[in-house]
Amino acid sequence: MIDGPHARWRSLPPEGALRDGPGKAGSRAPLNVDGSDRAPAAATSRASVSAVGQLEQTRRAFLGAALAAPAILGGCARPDDWRTRVDGRWVGDNAALGHRVRDMAANPPAGARERRCDVLVVGSGIAGLSAARTLHDAGITDFAVLELEAEAGGNSRGHAMRGLPCPLGAHYLPLPGPAAPDIQAWLVEIGLAKQTAAGLKWDERHLCHSPQERLFFEGRWQDGLLPNVARTSSTQAQYQRFAKLIADTGRLGFALPTARAPWTPAHEQLDRLTAAQWLLSNGISDPLLLAYLDYCCRDDYGAGSATVSAWALVHYFASRHGFSAPGDDTNDRDPVLTWPDGNAPLAQALRRPYADRVFTGRAAFRIDEGLDDVTAWAFAGAEVERWTAKHVIVATPLFIAAHVLRAPPPALVAAAKQQRRAPWMVANLRLDDLPLDRVGAPLSWDNVIHGSPSLGYVDAQHQSLGRVVGPRLITAYWAFPDTQRKRLLEMSWQDATQLVLDDLRAVHPDLSERLQQVDIVRHGHAMSIPAPGLRSSVALAAVPGSAARVSFAHADLSAYSVFEEAFTHGTNAGRRVARALGHGSV
Ligand SMILES: Cc1cc2nc3c(=O)[nH]c(=O)nc-3n(C[C@H](O)[C@H](O)[C@H](O)COP(=O)(O)OP(=O)(O)OC[C@H]3O[C@@H](n4cnc5c(N)ncnc54)[C@H](O)[C@@H]3O)c2cc1C
Repeated sequence: MIDGPHARWRSLPPEGALRDGPGKAGSRAPLNVDGSDRAPAAATSRASVSAVGQLEQTRRAFLGAALAAPAILGGCARPDDWRTRVDGRWVGDNAALGHRVRDMAANPPAGARERRCDVLVVGSGIAGLSAARTLHDAGITDFAVLELEAEAGGNSRGHAMRGLPCPLGAHYLPLPGPAAPDIQAWLVEIGLAKQTAAGLKWDERHLCHSPQERLFFEGRWQDGLLPNVARTSSTQAQYQRFAKLIADTGRLGFALPTARAPWTPAHEQLDRLTAAQWLLSNGISDPLLLAYLDYCCRDDYGAGSATVSAWALVHYFASRHGFSAPGDDTNDRDPVLTWPDGNAPLAQALRRPYADRVFTGRAAFRIDEGLDDVTAWAFAGAEVERWTAKHVIVATPLFIAAHVLRAPPPALVAAAKQQRRAPWMVANLRLDDLPLDRVGAPLSWDNVIHGSPSLGYVDAQHQSLGRVVGPRLITAYWAFPDTQRKRLLEMSWQDATQLVLDDLRAVHPDLSERLQQVDIVRHGHAMSIPAPGLRSSVALAAVPGSAARVSFAHADLSAYSVFEEAFTHGTNAGRRVARALGHGSV
């Protein structure tokens, strides 16, 4: 039970009232995707399906301009005194070492330190750790995991700011259903669930507490992420139409992990269209619904509905909870597991049984597959190591795998070329106290602003069991168009912070005054975008079996990235190698 952690959250009047009245210095209207001061509600007045394309265009243009000159977001000049007072830095992403891998692959230096093992796993994201766990469970003891970064976990790493835990990336796992027996069994094994006669009983401490999510819409916070509208409105009718569309299309078969669902010509047909095209062809035209669906795509896939495939959009809903219009009896929240430091406890639990075999700060830069063994070169600080193994599991993003393999299989090269990647930024803001807030629904785990180019923020202390006193920590999420990667990498942490503060000023006008410390991570190549044609790519499907002594394990193999896909590919790769080594029982 939460003991009123939000009791000190100070409510402001609705956003419009604040703007029109005497107000606080610095308060202003919410931002729109085009950066204007137009009230977000105005977007509802015109029902046009081309709104999806425009939404994507203006968001891209806006994000591009924002990265180039973040100060334009603020509108008017103001003293940026937080810059002189606040501690901040980029954390967690060793882009320099990553780029050294890119530059050194062709030339392994002589004089490397020799190392040997039966199986080498390269990459310790959820996929690499799951592969290693499977080897360990199969009784294979002579394996090693190499990780480029200083910590294992990849996109599921956690962080702490002066003792307060927070995520660097992934922050929740929906409760796995019957299509995910391996994940269910592992969660039971690590004590997150118990098998009872009535089914799985989850450890409630780690289920997302209430209130789970809220949306800032028309000047106030409302419960839930879908804009609340009158039951008789045309928007509500579109919600119902979309619910039926998902229920009908969902009958084709969708599952998490995706490998558990069939793949038919009808799925392939869906994968040829963008989500926006498919919505248009099915009469979904309401701007509020379209904006919500665009948000869902950006939140899960790092790109909007004009970029991701219709398969990805349907999968988002049909593989989990479906879609329910507000007011429907079935409109329950999806239960999810979450922790203050995101999915880091899951990564740590995967690693724990063989922690001594995970070597961090080791960037593999070249892998040569031979007839009898595989050789891998890796940076280890100032040294270079030369590993010889019977098998190597490459658990890096596919574009890196294609780069470090001396003779990459053609399927891997083709799939890596096809794959576009979304850059992400995750900003952890440590505040001296709760900031001012707008009226309406109270602070929730997930807090989203309608019409914002960001993905909102998560309250990192939401799962605290006692009353939260003292400093607060919120985690803001942003996904950028892939064309903005270079600008993101060149940006100062101060300008990135300004972007976040400007976005949240509409809901928390005194946020910059409350700010004490900022730790931001850039994931330059965070995740594969499931654009049309990728999921049905013959090359992508052929990658896992495309080499004899090298296996591949990464969420990229599913065309998009979530825990379930990474875990499944890691487990499958571990099983393939265990079988090849004569340990066939896992
Ligand atoms: C901001 C963000 C938020 C997310 N939120 C969620 C969420 O809430 N829930 C969810 O389920 N999923 C979420 N995801 C998706 C997340 O990517 C997956 O859950 C999962 O962590 C992916 O694991 P992976 O092993 O496939 O890949 P990665 O995490 O990409 O792991 C690959 C690993 O390989 C390492 N590596 C790369 N090159 C080398 C090299 N040359 N040598 C050695 N090591 C190397 C990398 O450093 C990394 O550790 C999120 C992702 C991001 C970026």
